[in-house]
Amino acid sequence: MKKENNTYCRVPFDSVTVSPTGRMQLCCEAQWTGGTEITKLKDVESIDQWFNGDYLTGVRKKMLNGERVSECETCYKNESTHGSSTRTWHNSKYFEQHDDVQEQSIKKVDLKLGNKCNLKCKMCFPYASSELWKEWKALGWNTKDKDPNSDTSWK
Ligand code: SF4
Ligand code: SF4
Repeated sequence: MKKENNTYCRVPFDSVTVSPTGRMQLCCEAQWTGGTEITKLKDVESIDQWFNGDYLTGVRKKMLNGERVSECETCYKNESTHGSSTRTWHNSKYFEQHDDVQEQSIKKVDLKLGNKCNLKCKMCFPYASSELWKEWKALGWNTKDKDPNSDTSWK
């Protein structure tokens, strides 16, 4: 595979991410497992089992083949709009020192234990930021997780 491949991303090869509502996802940018059953942390036997499981293995295979991954549309859109994305950032950092595109081992675990946060970054969501939850609620906006199966209600 050439490094210029437009869908390859290092993240599924070296990271595990859990949303504040317990949803397993590719990274904090990614949508939940589009078109497939949503996996929750409580249903995962171990981080290794998740990391080496069918879902991430399938995502990696698609990326190595240059196929688009529906969960990654945010990155593709950012690249078409302004030429860079979280995907391109992670890849450039990795390729500064490595060239093995298939190397996989957990180097980062992003485990969010709740939505308590002092900030309210504009690209974020109430289920990740208690300050945004307050603001969205005052505006009458939907404060729920985008995950339709979420039963979490934040404050
Ligand atoms: S392509 Fe973007 S959304 Fe997909 S895993 Fe990489 S950083 Fe996350
Ligand atoms: S509002 Fe908080 S959780 Fe959301 S992106 Fe900003 S710092 Fe992170």
